[in-house]
Amino acid sequence: MSQDVHKGATALSVGEILKRLATVRIGRALEHYQVIDSTNRRAFEWAQEGAPDGSVVIAEEQTSGRGRLGRRWEAPAGAALLCSIVLRPTLTPAQAQRVTMITSLAAVEAIHRVANVRAEIKWPNDLVIAERKVGGILTELAMAGRNLGAVIVGVGINVTLDPAQLSEVRVPATSLWAEVGTGVCRQALLCEFLQGVDDRYQAMQAGWSPLEEWRSHLATLGTAVDVGTTEDVIRGIATDVDGDGALIVREATGVVHRILAGDVTLRGHRV
Ligand code: ATP
Repeated sequence: MSQDVHKGATALSVGEILKRLATVRIGRALEHYQVIDSTNRRAFEWAQEGAPDGSVVIAEEQTSGRGRLGRRWEAPAGAALLCSIVLRPTLTPAQAQRVTMITSLAAVEAIHRVANVRAEIKWPNDLVIAERKVGGILTELAMAGRNLGAVIVGVGINVTLDPAQLSEVRVPATSLWAEVGTGVCRQALLCEFLQGVDDRYQAMQAGWSPLEEWRSHLATLGTAVDVGTTEDVIRGIATDVDGDGALIVREATGVVHRILAGDVTLRGHRV
């Protein structure tokens, strides 16, 4: 078992995780890798091989972790929680952002329970503590014709990572260790996270919408933002989100934009 004595990091044990997990669906099938290129890449492949709903891929280290828009997600060995889930929800492609919502909410809740620190969600997919990025969610769709075949959702949470080790961050980064100064158990964090996804996934499949809960954890609402699209930058106040998770931004001129996640970059700015 590898151990970073300074920060209390221990390797994940599949036996322990399965013993501890009380989920109905999430993590009942589980793959664990010491090193993998990307847990989302493997989960996507597994989905196409027929992975059951709720299958989970975890890894100690990713060599080509993915972010949005072809960006890189960095995760040195043992320093982060790296987990991707294959879901087969009864949602339309336009509703797929709800998977990002339930996953973000489960991550925020797990961070609070295990590390006793309040994280917030920066629209559309970042987890932040006091405006510093502690984690990210990446949701990818595997289409079956015009329908969703599967949704692959990955999370990376910086646990014992030293933010100074990261090479190419554009937004200030942090980790749970940097915030709380003591060891945070990745295994406990993972189990809480999977339980949180499981609870919300069951509810969502039964008709519940995560929108209200998600809205209440968004750090972005009420703030001044610059939304970078491929052609333009829209500057305004983020006033709300709609049912599909699109961000509503009002410019000073009164013009209102509905911004879809996926092809934009969001920066806060001071007014
Ligand atoms: P941004 O938050 O920079 O606007 P984004 O939300 O599009 O970008 P993501 O897809 O969430 O980005 O993640 C990729 C970006 O996150 C990278 O370009 C890098 O700036 C930053 N990053 C990479 N690894 C980490 C990490 N471990 N912790 C915090 N930030 C990271």
